[in-house]
Amino acid sequence: MAKKQYAVIGMGRFGSSVASALTNLGFEVLAIDSNEQKIQEVVGLVTHAVSADTTDEEALRAIGIRNFDVVVVAIGADIQASILTTLILKDLGVPKLIVKAQNELHGKVLQKIGADKVIYPERDMGLRVAHHLISPNILDYIELSDDYSIVEMKAPQPTIGKNLKQLDIRAKYKCNVLAIKTNEHMNISPYADDIIKENDILVIVGKNADLTNFEIVHAEG
Ligand code: ATP
Repeated sequence: MAKKQYAVIGMGRFGSSVASALTNLGFEVLAIDSNEQKIQEVVGLVTHAVSADTTDEEALRAIGIRNFDVVVVAIGADIQASILTTLILKDLGVPKLIVKAQNELHGKVLQKIGADKVIYPERDMGLRVAHHLISPNILDYIELSDDYSIVEMKAPQPTIGKNLKQLDIRAKYKCNVLAIKTNEHMNISPYADDIIKENDILVIVGKNADLTNFEIVHAEG
C-alpha cells in the first residue's frame, strides 16, 4: 500500500512541528504558508514547501491539494482564513481534513462545515500540564471524550507490592487499570493477582472526575 501523503497548511509553531514530525516518520509532506519567510524556514525539514494563500481556491487547485490523503490546517490567529481554507478544501473533496481550532466557538464552526477532526493543541497541552501539576506521577493524559480519559502514571507508592485485587481500584475509584508497564514490557490485560512493582507505569481509564479523584488521593511530592 502506498504511503499516505500529507499537506500541512500554516507553518506556525504547531504546523511546522506536525509537518517535520510526519517527515521524520517517513511520510511525504507538503508544507504550505502564505508567508514566504516561513516557507524558507521549513525547506529541508519537509519534502516540499510552497508559498500560497489557501483562501484562494485557484491556488489550492494549482497545488493539486485534492491528491493529498490528509490535509492539516494549522492556521490559528486568523480565524477567518482558517474557516475559508477549510470550506474550500471540503468543497475540493479532500479525503481527510484535520483543523486546529483557536477556541470552542471556532471549533464548532469547523465541525459544522465538515472538518473530519478538530484539534485544540493549546487546550490539550494545558490539560496535561494541569494533571501533571496535580500529581507529578502523571506522565500523560488523553481525553477520550468529554467525560472519559486515559491517564498514564507512575505507580504511586501506596500501590507498590499490592495486587490489583487488593487495591480494588475499580470498586474504590470506579477506574480500570488497562495496562501495567514494567520497563519495556507492557502487560495489556492485567490479572487480579498481578503485583505492582516499584517504577511500574499504570495506564488507567475512567470518568474524568473519578480519575482526578484517584490522582489527588495518590498525589505525592
Ligand atoms: P502557533 O501557535 O502554532 O505558532 P498560531 O496559532 O499563532 O500558530 P498563526 O501564526 O496565526 O497560528 O498561523 C500559522 C501560520 O499560518 C502563519 O505562518 C501564517 O503565515 C499562516 N497563514 C495565515 N493565513 C494563511 C493563509 N490564508 N494561507 C496560508 N497560510 C496562512
